[in-house]
Amino acid sequence: MNKRNAYILMMLLIPTVVFADKVKVRVFSTANIAYTKISFENSTYSLLGDNVDTIAANLTKGDFVELTPFAKEVVVSVNGEKRGNFESVSFVTNQDDAYLYISPKGYKQRSYEDDLHVTALNSKHLQLINNVEFEKYVAGVAQSEIYGKHADIFRVQAIISRTWAMRNMEKHKADGYNFCDNVHCQAYYNRCIREDIKLAAQSSVNEVLVDADGNLIETPFHSNSGGQTANSEDVWKSEIEYLRSVKDTFSYGMKQSVWTKEFSTDKWLNYFAKNHKLNINDESVRNELLNFTQDERKAKIMGVPLTTIRKDWNLKSTFFSVVYYGDKVVLEGKGYGHGVGLSQEGAIRMVELGVPYKDILVHYYTGARVVRLGAEAEMQEPMLLASATTEGNVDDDFTNDVMNMITMATEPVGVAVEDEKKKETKTVVEAENSNKSKRSSDLASRMLNTKNQLAEESSKNNNVDNENDWVYEW
Ligand SMILES: [Zn+2]
Repeated sequence: MNKRNAYILMMLLIPTVVFADKVKVRVFSTANIAYTKISFENSTYSLLGDNVDTIAANLTKGDFVELTPFAKEVVVSVNGEKRGNFESVSFVTNQDDAYLYISPKGYKQRSYEDDLHVTALNSKHLQLINNVEFEKYVAGVAQSEIYGKHADIFRVQAIISRTWAMRNMEKHKADGYNFCDNVHCQAYYNRCIREDIKLAAQSSVNEVLVDADGNLIETPFHSNSGGQTANSEDVWKSEIEYLRSVKDTFSYGMKQSVWTKEFSTDKWLNYFAKNHKLNINDESVRNELLNFTQDERKAKIMGVPLTTIRKDWNLKSTFFSVVYYGDKVVLEGKGYGHGVGLSQEGAIRMVELGVPYKDILVHYYTGARVVRLGAEAEMQEPMLLASATTEGNVDDDFTNDVMNMITMATEPVGVAVEDEKKKETKTVVEAENSNKSKRSSDLASRMLNTKNQLAEESSKNNNVDNENDWVYEW
């Protein structure tokens, strides 16, 4: 078997491992639910107690179920009539497009597709777990995590979220489910109700991001890079090859592009004296602290990690300069979020400019490639520009259009970014070429590698300060 066929075979096998099952997502995971009502619309559900007893069948529009916890059990009423206490109850359906409404007391109603499993966390609160088809979950996340009008921004988000989910299937293994529904994992605040988002997610079905070795990548993102993304090691310690700092002028002129924050000069200086033992009576130290600038992203100020400053001063980003006005200092900042990986507002801008979604992903995840897993698996070109540059087999006009769009969006430093893009293209091509000889057809070892890498990274990143940053952030 030649290498290409081996690779295709490997890609054919992955989905049977990863996609076969539904995923369990704990919904309302940050809420304290002492009572909830479940209702239905154009769907039919059965209600099972302890997975065996049928409490009610054919629940549909007009029916409602009320659930409350009592002594670690769930007390069930159907249409106002008490039906008993159970260790768990499950709403199950055979319909493909079924969904139900969850209306907990004190929280806004949401709807979720497929099945729902309810247990008592304790004598006061319920735990709700949505057992949902993987792709429906991905569409729901895309709807929750990003805004926009164009389909491609949801396609971008769906690929990022799908890749993350496939890498992190065991994130809540110890809790008995796969993911929670808040930003600790990925926001999943409702079923996807927008048809355009559903279609965008479906159009990217089975598309994921892989690194040069073919492993699924970690896909952090943030709201706005401020014009330059950050290196992973400057934020989370571990250096990851595809999380490199890139120029990102697409993030200019968006909602979260700039911010300012003002402090008294004394407060600013005393913080460094008290928390970081800097001698603020030394003129050169004072000078650095009061006139610190970042035209390009830096990792530290006087040896203090900017991530620490961001946390201690509750700043939108680490990408700021200090402007000194006598008795006060103003931090003039750029961007919002940790700055690593994809800038959502930059991606939104790129979509508006018509940049193809794969090129957007490759812009932010250096050297990564989008591949499609599944029955129609095929060897994908690493990226449009790469194939055009090396083989000249892609419509040159189209390629030029893309390059022009990139240049347009990157003024006033368009040339630099274009160079960056070319360099990136070269890297991808090189990676792709060396990669072809490295690929293994051993699926099991590959999946294991991904898991080991993930475990290693999560242990490296097991830093309380930064833990919450290693998740999606809007
Ligand atoms: Zn979580």
